[in-house]
Amino acid sequence: MRKPDILTVRNIAEKLATRDAVTALLGPDHGSWTVTEISDGNMNAVFRVASAQQSIIAKYAPPYIRVIGESWPFPSSRIAFEQAALAEYHRICPDMVPAIIDYDADAALLVMEDLAGFTVLRRALIEGMTLPRLAEQAGQYLAQTLFHTSDLALPTIEKKQLLERFSGNAELCATTETVIFTGPYWSAPLNKWNPLLDDMVSAIHQDREWHQAAADLNEIFRTRTQSLIHGDLHTGSIMVTPDATRVIDAEWAFHGPMGFDIGALIGNLLIAFCAVPGHGDNRDYADWILQTIDGIWQHFAEVFRQLVLTRRHDGDDALLTARLFDDRAALAFTDRYLAQVLTDSAGFAGAKMTRRVIGISHVEDLEEIADPALRARCERHVLTIARDLVVARNTIRSISDITTLAQRHQP
Ligand code: ADP
Ligand code: MG
Repeated sequence: MRKPDILTVRNIAEKLATRDAVTALLGPDHGSWTVTEISDGNMNAVFRVASAQQSIIAKYAPPYIRVIGESWPFPSSRIAFEQAALAEYHRICPDMVPAIIDYDADAALLVMEDLAGFTVLRRALIEGMTLPRLAEQAGQYLAQTLFHTSDLALPTIEKKQLLERFSGNAELCATTETVIFTGPYWSAPLNKWNPLLDDMVSAIHQDREWHQAAADLNEIFRTRTQSLIHGDLHTGSIMVTPDATRVIDAEWAFHGPMGFDIGALIGNLLIAFCAVPGHGDNRDYADWILQTIDGIWQHFAEVFRQLVLTRRHDGDDALLTARLFDDRAALAFTDRYLAQVLTDSAGFAGAKMTRRVIGISHVEDLEEIADPALRARCERHVLTIARDLVVARNTIRSISDITTLAQRHQP
């Protein structure tokens, strides 16, 4: 079979012109379309393609990591998992993920709704944008997607079938493990950090307690097949307006621990919190970020409890079937379950924070702080919170334990 073409800004319109779902929206005359590459992640090529009447987003997964090139092969099948996960999330939460317009498996090309007017949440946080509905909407998204793909919602056969559908995304899971749970803790080849952190980094490379805790988290990541998780739910995978929230970039999806998604979001919000002194030091905004973390968990937990109560009346195949459990007993089970999700979330938040400061892939919240000394102060704050979250995650009993800890370590 002929190898599929590498798609670029030059040939993508021609490719898209062969797709009925695309020409139905943009019209047939692909010569008049404008194509702009808007890739800002590491992995894939993303294009906005517009005609006079409409615009769409085309995401292409080359058989390697885009920013590195052919020397780091990476399976194009990741786009199939992204498509499958977005479709699943769209079914569960139609208002929270972009609609899929077309998918060409042979070309590794996914076409979706253009979230025109939306900003990537990471950028919004750097710019100090106020997002009054973020906590409620992100909490809602997490509760709906994580609950409806879990054993609390699905009959066991359906759950295991869903798990099976995503088990082929294993190479991405393996990459997550090396970049998050092991790479940062030794001098892995592509690691980088601010040289002003040298002392802290060598201490981390010697910190056996931290390594043990990271290994515990890696084991949870590998074995706790709780929900169909997004797998990369940092603030670069969410787009926002003051009123609306959308989740994109689901290529890392697989059945894993809920806390990995919740922790990714909390950890990246904590990075934004620590970076506030580097972007004008608006203390009210820093407080708002902590309130948002609190609100996300509160909304998540509240919606999740309600979903449990509703589901158990649906039939005897419910884990907490109403035949055996009254509301009180079902909620007692759910509270134990959520306590575990919270400690997992704390640990994964810390692991995600660490790797963004001393691992292979960094974030603009910190990288855009021009003064290295100021940046180092923010980065130390991130690492200090991160260590507590990872090592002492089992002492976290409520979301306010996390926000209090973040404030306590204020430099
Ligand atoms: P990658 O997998 O390479 O990280 P993303 O899915 O995160 O790619 O997309 C890269 C960027 O493209 C996003 O940060 C965002 O700016 C833009 N983008 C992606 N999907 C959409 C969309 N549906 N609407 C508008 N912009 C989008
Ligand atoms: Mg991305």
